[in-house]
Amino acid sequence: MSEHSENSATNGNTVGNPPRKMRVLLETYGCQMNEYDTELVKSILEKDQFAIVKTENEADIIMLNTCAVRENAHRKVYGRVHDIHHRREGRPVMIGILGCMATNLRQELFENRGLKIDFIAGPDSYKRLPTLIREASAGEQAFDLTLSEFETYSDVFPARKEGVNAWIAVMRGCNNFCTFCVVPYTRGRERSRSVENIVGEVKVLAADGFKQVTLLGQNVNSYRHEEHDFAHLLEEVAKVPGIERVRFTSPHPKDFPDRVIDSIAANKKLCNHMHVPAQSGNDRVLDMMNRTYTRKEYLDLIAKMRAKVPGVALSTDIIVGFPTETDAEFEDTFTLMKDVEFDSAFIFKYSERKQTIAAKKFPDDVSEDKKTERIVRLNDLQKSISLKKNRAHLGEIHEVLVEATQTAKSETEIQARNDGNKIVILKAGPEQVGDILKARIVDATNYVLKGERV
Ligand code: SF4
Repeated sequence: MSEHSENSATNGNTVGNPPRKMRVLLETYGCQMNEYDTELVKSILEKDQFAIVKTENEADIIMLNTCAVRENAHRKVYGRVHDIHHRREGRPVMIGILGCMATNLRQELFENRGLKIDFIAGPDSYKRLPTLIREASAGEQAFDLTLSEFETYSDVFPARKEGVNAWIAVMRGCNNFCTFCVVPYTRGRERSRSVENIVGEVKVLAADGFKQVTLLGQNVNSYRHEEHDFAHLLEEVAKVPGIERVRFTSPHPKDFPDRVIDSIAANKKLCNHMHVPAQSGNDRVLDMMNRTYTRKEYLDLIAKMRAKVPGVALSTDIIVGFPTETDAEFEDTFTLMKDVEFDSAFIFKYSERKQTIAAKKFPDDVSEDKKTERIVRLNDLQKSISLKKNRAHLGEIHEVLVEATQTAKSETEIQARNDGNKIVILKAGPEQVGDILKARIVDATNYVLKGERV
């Protein structure tokens, strides 16, 4: 990768002392794929004589792995760059922008003089980061935003955090072009890793003590490598000894063939939880979003999932205030959520993203007040449904996987998770992270279940 790595990745090379590695702080914004990519970047940099540090004061370089999906994430990054400049008080610190915002806002990032960015790397260019840093050190405007048809980082083993769950990207990119979404522009077309390569990594993860893997992809269930589809991949991953649970995110409703649902029903290790992003319950809005299914097709899919996988937990994503969405069309989303009764839902206000088809073709004409009114109504509805669904578990016995031996609120409680992806809180006991135990559900809020050991 780097014919000129050793010296240029070091600092403070005084005579007689070994050169000091350049120290990098990585900060992550946005989705789980970005968290995963940060782990990849750490691994790439550590192999190339950089040291990863945890605090700003120690860092020679600060990299922000950014998100372009939500406006909020984007504003946070600009604020953070100004903050770094303000606090460094004459100490030289390089700033690099990684991730989707890098691809989406390259011109703005370089031309906004106040920002003073040293280098920019898009999601397919992380292997070139050591080179970009050296170019930027030499005073060049360093960037690589190439979108690759092939890069899957299948040869990079991420520097993961310890824990019970390991994320593993099985495919990258998206071909769907939902009109509100920047991902096809910032992360390029779909490409998948081979089943052997993924299973090989999962075996290493099991040997390292991970009990659960979550397969990741922008459109994870459209996974395909040669003749192998997503159902085959799920089944092969579930065969790895030591791995007790397999999850995946984020899927598209169009890519749930019967075999995927049947595999989940038949295989205990494939968790009984499916995230099925609806986005809207109205056909005209779904068409404008280019979601490629109708309300009826979506509801038929949910009915099929419930028939084949009894008790399956379901979650969804919803956007309110998509351009031109009328009150009556919003009611269709409201009734869809009311009828389906999801276990949980991620509900967002529409906000325009540069480059997207919606930004080019549709005016963002639903007022902020209207969007707020709609999101409040859906959040209230979902809270009451989540509470009802959680309370329906009272008295049931669930197998739970311990995730933490204390909770944010208490050192005398442990946090575990059931098959349906719900958090179960129990009194602390002898169990360690990664243990599986049986718990009777004795209490429930709309967010969590409380359990007692059986
Ligand atoms: S499926 Fe749609 S929303 Fe999901 S990443 Fe692809 S374009 Fe974006």
